[in-house]
Amino acid sequence: AAKESKDKNFAVFTPQMADKVQEQVQLERDLHRAVRDDEFEVFYQPVMEADGRTIHSMEALIRWHHPKKGLIVPTVFIPLAEEAGLIPQISCIVVEHTLQFLNDLKAKSLPLHRVSINLSGREFNHKHINELMGMIEDQGLTSHFEFELLESYLMENAEEVISLLDSVRKRGISIAIDDFGTGYSSLSYLKKFPVDKIKIDQSLVKDIISDLNDLEISKAVVAMARSLGLSVVAEGVETEAHSQLLSELGVDYLQGYFFSKPIPAPEMEAFLYKSENA
Ligand code: C2E
Ligand code: MG
Ligand code: MG
Ligand code: MG
Repeated sequence: AAKESKDKNFAVFTPQMADKVQEQVQLERDLHRAVRDDEFEVFYQPVMEADGRTIHSMEALIRWHHPKKGLIVPTVFIPLAEEAGLIPQISCIVVEHTLQFLNDLKAKSLPLHRVSINLSGREFNHKHINELMGMIEDQGLTSHFEFELLESYLMENAEEVISLLDSVRKRGISIAIDDFGTGYSSLSYLKKFPVDKIKIDQSLVKDIISDLNDLEISKAVVAMARSLGLSVVAEGVETEAHSQLLSELGVDYLQGYFFSKPIPAPEMEAFLYKSENA
């Protein structure tokens, strides 16, 4: 946001803001190179069953190894990638890494759980989604993939999105609504959309113990999900107390630092190996 001057009616463009713009322009240039050379790594975070002990699935979360700046998290570069029109290429890279990961697990006879991939709104069109599904089908791994979408994307082009979601699910890939409870939150609207799962946003989960409102909202989300036949994941589970309360509420799956942060593929392999042999 523009810095406010004493006279509240106009904003001042400061030298710091010019630097910031310059930096973003440079970062966007770097991002084109990163896509070309694949400077990305995909981390995986386990999603646990409500018992907190058994692994249910994993979420793929991208990281960028910038040659000068080091590791960059997606909250920094995904918005830039969206502006630069690079999201479809980035999703192909994420799917590619994930296919490799699943094939490695298979070769080592480790269990293959479902991996969910985060998609952005603009890439949710038939042509691009068909491309992603084609890559996955070529490896015979559709039953091991899920796509995550923000609720705001659903609302934008409802009719087109519904037909696309239908075709994705018919081909065996499941659909989750990410960060639920932050945006439109129109629970009843949800029944129009063919989805499998909703993920309660971590901002709701965070205060669930101290804030009665957040507790009530979470209860309502679980109840609504039940009646629509959807499963529920709680994100941002950081403590034992959270984990316990959420499973008491009837949440199906738990994800958060309490169980594991997102970790590189080799560490995820070790995690899978350990839970297999626990
Ligand atoms: P998200 O999909 O909601 O992912 C969950 C985020 O919460 C991840 O941040 C994860 O590291 C973090 N998290 C998990 N457990 C906890 C916890 O217990 N406490 C706290 N405080 N945080 C937790 P990350 O990896 O930085 O990703 C941020 C967002 O970037 C993601 O939010 C997603 O919207 C986007 N993103 C990540 N990877 C991709 C991708 O491959 N493609 C696209 N389009 N977006 C991506
Ligand atoms: Mg997600
Ligand atoms: Mg989320
Ligand atoms: Mg998020």
